Amino acid sequence: MYPKLFIPGPTHVRQEVLDAQAEPMIGHRAPEYSDLHADVTPKLQKLLYTQQRVYMYASSSSGVMEGSVRQASTKRILSTVCGAFSKRWYEMTVANGVACDKLEADMGQAITPELVDQALSQGDYDAITVVMNETSTGVMNPVKDIAALIHAKYPDVLILIDAVSAMAGVKIEFDAWGLDVCLAGVQKCFALPPGLTICAVSDRARARALQVPNCGHYFAYSEMDSKYEKHQTPATPAISLIQALKKQLNDMLAEGLDNRWQRHADMAAVVQAWARKNFALYSDERYLSQTVTNVANTRGISVGDLNKALRERGAIISNGYGTLKEKCFRIAHMGDLTLDDINWLLAQIDEILGL
Ligand SMILES: *Cc1c(COP(=O)(O)O)cnc(C)c1O
Repeated sequence: MYPKLFIPGPTHVRQEVLDAQAEPMIGHRAPEYSDLHADVTPKLQKLLYTQQRVYMYASSSSGVMEGSVRQASTKRILSTVCGAFSKRWYEMTVANGVACDKLEADMGQAITPELVDQALSQGDYDAITVVMNETSTGVMNPVKDIAALIHAKYPDVLILIDAVSAMAGVKIEFDAWGLDVCLAGVQKCFALPPGLTICAVSDRARARALQVPNCGHYFAYSEMDSKYEKHQTPATPAISLIQALKKQLNDMLAEGLDNRWQRHADMAAVVQAWARKNFALYSDERYLSQTVTNVANTRGISVGDLNKALRERGAIISNGYGTLKEKCFRIAHMGDLTLDDINWLLAQIDEILGL
């Protein structure tokens, strides 16, 4: 038996979603594909509360993170860093030769509108990158408030959001918040197998991209637009994953989006309360993630041994990320996990540790 995944990606995938990948193969220039693509896209727009374009890339999230910074700026990007994934986005920006500066918060702390205001006021920026849910630390940055500040004071700054471990788990109102790029691989809150990334792009971000020389090809919005009206993609799409996505989006809409956000909030509240009682929370209480909890290992347990014992009972969690290994452990509560799953998991940990 494979253990049930309580790790922050890939997450547990339900059997019927796995089965949806086993549909007969179709040609990506055939009407069957266009029908599939045309069915899925408006549902993704609903999920993101947007009327603007949503693309599907055959790629893990990292590819689209890299593609997005390549076509965002003709001046400078402000790269906000508050953990491992936001640091990776900064490093991608540097590696692509895109002018940028780093705004860094301490580990476990959030990127706040105040920090962003201070940094943006000091340079000639036309884009910012923010990781909404820093999966390595368990911090959820206040993206809505950051976007409001930017719209009020820095109207030329495009807002690029890595929502990899947030999209489909928490409410993201792409249009109302005024976001420009919002991307997520489907192996986290979408609860699908990996290999497909969803990316909403604003009309103004698409216009900006046309001004950027050498902005790449595979991820270029203009390339995606060349096939958008036909409900196709320029390169071969991840057809089986999109078939599974169709099933999953139908199930999400049947669950009800508000119910889905509430389920994630409820699971988060239970894990946070458990962590406060038995250990401590690593991150700033004001910005706790709704999809993954980073528990500070205040009892000095062996996280590796805990996970071995959990595996025998049919589950795994994550150790602390990078330098936080053994100092923390992470419990993901995202995707299709339920409150019953979470209560079961915490009961197992209580038994193993004698809490
Ligand atoms: C998992 C994760 C990534 C990396 O995603 P890949 O699909 O593995 O490329 C990036 N950002 C965040 C916040 C993540 O949680």
